[in-house]
Amino acid sequence: MKSNGNSTTFTVHDRLGAAIAPNTNSNVPTNLPQPPTTTTTTTTCSINLSTPNCQQIITTNTNIMPAGSLSSATAASSSVATSTSSNQHQDLVNLFECPVCFDYALPPILQCQSGHIVCSQCRQKLSSCPTCRGPLGNIRNLGMEKVADTILFPCKYQTNGCLLSLTHKHKLEHEDSCDFRPYMCPCPGASCKWQGSLENVMQHLWLAHKSITTLQGEDIVFLATDITLPGAVDWVMMQSCFGHHFMLVLEKQDQQFFAIVQLIGTRQQAEKFVYRLELNGNKRRLTWESTPKSIHEGIQQAILISDCLVFDGATALLFSENGNLAINIIMSKTFCRCSCFFKGNIYLEQVRSHVHYISDDRFREDYKNLISSENSLEQLLNAVHEEIRRRETHDADARKRKDQIKKEYQPLHSDLYTFQPKFLSENFKQLCSQPKFPSEYLKKLGNGIFSMPVFTNDFCTQFIEELKHFEASPMPKGRPNTMNNYGILLDELGFTSFIDELRNQYLNPLAQALYGEEYVGTTGLDSHKAFVVSYKIGQDVDLDYHYDNAEITFNVSLGDQFEGGDLYFGTMAKPHRTVFSNFTFVEHKPTIGVLHRAQHLHGSEPITSGERYNLIIWMRSSSKRSQLCPMCWQTPECLVPVDSDSYGDGMIK
Ligand SMILES: [Zn+2]
Ligand SMILES: [Zn+2]
Ligand SMILES: [Zn+2]
Ligand SMILES: [Zn+2]
Ligand SMILES: [Zn+2]
Ligand SMILES: [Zn+2]
Repeated sequence: MKSNGNSTTFTVHDRLGAAIAPNTNSNVPTNLPQPPTTTTTTTTCSINLSTPNCQQIITTNTNIMPAGSLSSATAASSSVATSTSSNQHQDLVNLFECPVCFDYALPPILQCQSGHIVCSQCRQKLSSCPTCRGPLGNIRNLGMEKVADTILFPCKYQTNGCLLSLTHKHKLEHEDSCDFRPYMCPCPGASCKWQGSLENVMQHLWLAHKSITTLQGEDIVFLATDITLPGAVDWVMMQSCFGHHFMLVLEKQDQQFFAIVQLIGTRQQAEKFVYRLELNGNKRRLTWESTPKSIHEGIQQAILISDCLVFDGATALLFSENGNLAINIIMSKTFCRCSCFFKGNIYLEQVRSHVHYISDDRFREDYKNLISSENSLEQLLNAVHEEIRRRETHDADARKRKDQIKKEYQPLHSDLYTFQPKFLSENFKQLCSQPKFPSEYLKKLGNGIFSMPVFTNDFCTQFIEELKHFEASPMPKGRPNTMNNYGILLDELGFTSFIDELRNQYLNPLAQALYGEEYVGTTGLDSHKAFVVSYKIGQDVDLDYHYDNAEITFNVSLGDQFEGGDLYFGTMAKPHRTVFSNFTFVEHKPTIGVLHRAQHLHGSEPITSGERYNLIIWMRSSSKRSQLCPMCWQTPECLVPVDSDSYGDGMIK
């Protein structure tokens, strides 16, 4: 906690049992895609000199003359570029050095009566010329200004590692956001003058601002006490989650409150998160949602333009109790989809194949071989268009269904919707509390394929009852994926936090131990898509050979009397190649789960009688898939952000 002059105190409360509630998405599990043989992908990268993230191009720019090759920012200098060497250029730049601060004197350039120049910052503090002690008039040096227009100046933070050189017009703007600019102390108010590198910010806070409390978790409550204190007051606390530290600041100025969150991290890192601030109480709710600021840019500007949660003293009183105001902070990651979601891996059930759409003509050319007496090329193309339309509106449709279900659906067993450890078998709990292999609770069925008891019989019975109850209701239902026509999307039904808990507390530690970072990445399995598929004679009875859009798949048989329907596994998927060989068969037994690598090709044999329900959790690692999308086997170039309560394809920008 910190205050501007006024001393104040606050306490904080952790909120129990709450978790972020991200939502559904649909991506297809896929048969090995059969992409057009002639596909070429062109990568283009546009460069904007005013952004600090293009170090490669910049590197070339320091040693050579600023040839007019980079962008409009350098255009003005092209005439100089062609006629001077880099040493000459450096000599020229040095002429602009301010004798006081050694930064550059940039236009408008003022000189003393003898022609000495000084930078405008230093000039404000001087009464006489620092070089000759003569009087400082208001004499412009137009010659120097014209030369300044034609050359590039190195960034002020060159000695910290910035390799960029810019025209004087772009220099200040760049330096303001330059990644090499030192970080300031993120505490509000101007009292602490600390500066340093990002790595040292937390250390500084721990040493110099000991009174700031840190809470762990994605969903916490910050209680600001004594909000009626007069004058300008700040409340500060830290939130630690997703391996990062965030600082929440509540500022009171002139009876207005401003609440905002900043990340102890770079701007790029901040882009990966969304925070929500909520005031709740007395049947009222006030919400603000945004991307946190990086402490590098700070929060002052945002507060100035009200780019934060703003409310007045009267509103604060409506939500406060005994002069204390509780603010709920929910931090989540901004998940994205790979752009291949919209056109790649389109499953055509008629021909039991996946296709990739580029254009109509291209489709007719590439998929001639799919024509049969039942399916003309045009019929298939129509089916492709229909699927593309479905995907374009997919997220909005899912959101509508989820909202309607939340509002209108009456569950049969409402207690199932909140995860409880009693749903799990004791053996599973033991296994996940100290995950290791070999273990008496874990059976290895093949390479990377493990089975284990998961749920209790009671849970499975009630869960199936609930699912049947939902199926029989008039509620809108999405399809689990393009290969399964029957089933239920658990994230739409309201099971997201249930699955989050199961994944975070049990499955992620288990997967880390069994598969390691190669499969779960540095972030661990941080998102999922969960659904229940049902197989029944007369509906879907089997599932073609495919791999899943995930890193690790968890498949639990929930039961209902069935025969047949074994799971079979082949080899690991490879881009553009399907190998059918050496199958491992796995029988489904109710309450038992199978954990496998999602790209381990697999399928399901036809059931021969009864009805089978399986819970499928596709678990995803944002660090893995942000590097390589398993659906298009490319580094996702064009990531499309999704709603903050949705996991998209589990990628992060
Ligand atoms: Zn100066
Ligand atoms: Zn002088
Ligand atoms: Zn810079
Ligand atoms: Zn400080
Ligand atoms: Zn699968
Ligand atoms: Zn992709």
